[in-house]
Amino acid sequence: MEVLQSITSNLNASALIPQAEVQGADLYAGQDLSGLNLLEKAWVNWYIWWGNPVIATGVMSFLMHEVVYFGRSIPWIIIDHIPYFRQWKLQPHKIPSDWDQWRCTYLVLLQHFTIELPQIWGFHPLAEYFGMLTYQVPFPSVWQMAKQIAIFFVFEDTWHFVFHRALHWGPLYKRIHKQHHEFSAPFGLAAEYAHPIEVGLTGFGTVGAPILYAAFLGEIHIVGVYLWITCRLFQAIDSHSGYHFPWSLNNFLPFWAGAEHHDYHHEKFTECYSSSFRHWDWLFGTDKKYHAYRAKQAAQKKAKKAQ
Ligand SMILES: [Zn+2]
Ligand SMILES: [Zn+2]
Repeated sequence: MEVLQSITSNLNASALIPQAEVQGADLYAGQDLSGLNLLEKAWVNWYIWWGNPVIATGVMSFLMHEVVYFGRSIPWIIIDHIPYFRQWKLQPHKIPSDWDQWRCTYLVLLQHFTIELPQIWGFHPLAEYFGMLTYQVPFPSVWQMAKQIAIFFVFEDTWHFVFHRALHWGPLYKRIHKQHHEFSAPFGLAAEYAHPIEVGLTGFGTVGAPILYAAFLGEIHIVGVYLWITCRLFQAIDSHSGYHFPWSLNNFLPFWAGAEHHDYHHEKFTECYSSSFRHWDWLFGTDKKYHAYRAKQAAQKKAKKAQ
């Protein structure tokens, strides 16, 4: 609470800002900050405190990615340890071992610090070059950000379908994509378990979408980008979870891919190339074996129940 109070108070008291941090305070020189909400005030203080928008954005972006990635993966690790949930596991006889989870965490963390960190760091100057807002306040409306996120989802899914399909071409599969397919029964943490080239290639669908939006379509604030990346990480981790529940999203939104779709891809090493939606696989006929397989499973389950 004390921290929050110190963050939200003294916004206009420039006398309290140390000399060394004047550069940060200068970002808001002449702007009336009195009408901001709590989050926007915290945002302003973050940038003033760091005194350098490139560092402030870089640190925040990296922390956001780590907190969301591992924060979303932990519930799946717990679920894997509770036998009650096996009834909804898509491949119930393949439960990831603790060793699998550890070595996956190790490699993902290693890649985050070596390959993704410089990329995340470079994102701010690049995004700003194309006109993205970062330290600025107030934030755009929720409606505006939701509209942008919807566009990013469609773009990313299309990008992912094309390049994921390409990665299944023999030479590319052998050299690059095979690593992601090491776990034929995936689990949440395995979402980013992939060759660095694949991380960069498919990652462009996620970070390239807002950059292209800023360059060609209109104004965008990095807060909307963070919300988008959070949604995208949830989608990627959940689709690797290995669980299909009665309350899973694709039960209510039939165009949503979900774990039920992507788990098949890992189990059979073919079809279901999209990330978020089902339309591209349907249009290109890369979901026929998947539908036949799921129909067969459903019939077997029904027959077993009838016995
Ligand atoms: Zn694949
Ligand atoms: Zn996968």
